[in-house]
Amino acid sequence: MGIGRIVTPPRPLFLSAVAVCAALALSAARAAAQVDTRWPQHSMDRPQPPGVDPGPYVRNDARPADAIVLFDGRDLSEWRDDNGGPAPWIVKDGYFEVKPRSGMIHTAQAFGDVQLHIEWSAPTPPTGEGQERGNSGVFLQGMYEVQILDSYHNVTYADGHAGAVFGQYPPRVNPTRPPGQWNVYDIVFRHPRFDANGKVTAPARITVFFNGVLVQDDVPLTGPTAYRQRPPYTVTPDALPLALQDHSYPVRFRNIWIRQLSSQER
Ligand code: MG
Repeated sequence: MGIGRIVTPPRPLFLSAVAVCAALALSAARAAAQVDTRWPQHSMDRPQPPGVDPGPYVRNDARPADAIVLFDGRDLSEWRDDNGGPAPWIVKDGYFEVKPRSGMIHTAQAFGDVQLHIEWSAPTPPTGEGQERGNSGVFLQGMYEVQILDSYHNVTYADGHAGAVFGQYPPRVNPTRPPGQWNVYDIVFRHPRFDANGKVTAPARITVFFNGVLVQDDVPLTGPTAYRQRPPYTVTPDALPLALQDHSYPVRFRNIWIRQLSSQER
């Protein structure tokens, strides 16, 4: 205001407005595609994902011709235990069930970018609440979990519900069917890319349709998923086995197939 004030020459208004708009658009796009830091991880204050009735389960065992069948109702020949031995989970009547406290199971084959179809059902009658109710999980490359949980009329932290990228992204909505009924995940997963120095050039990305409802929309992961932490990436091979979690609940699975996505499709 006073005499002698150093006056900054005005910046070209049009250019700066364009620059501001571009910066805002960029930051908006970035904000929309990043973990929301307004809530701490596993915050119980974070709003619950709204419930959406997905309609009844309709059995459809048709598979694309280029799908690799990981479970066709008969045996666990495509799966291994933690030590590479036969998978010990229980096969019955066209499905298999977690054998509590036997450990995770892993595919014999390793996968990079994939489209995965998997159906699961939570134990009935339900027992427990929160995370202690029908918990399991689909672990892409053995380290990126799409949560499986009996989220039907069950309150837990938002980023731990069924369809969550565990501890990173709550599902956009909650279309979980009642325990004992089949749920369907259709997942698209892109593995992280690293340069020769081990720097992440593209994070892992996940899209999830849950009972036909979009719950994850190409979200970029901060690194492997974990409880009460978000560990950074470490350099990993392009292809690694898919795993299913033994969280000590007899969750059931059926009709599992996977398509490998070529890098040309990216
Ligand atoms: Mg889990």
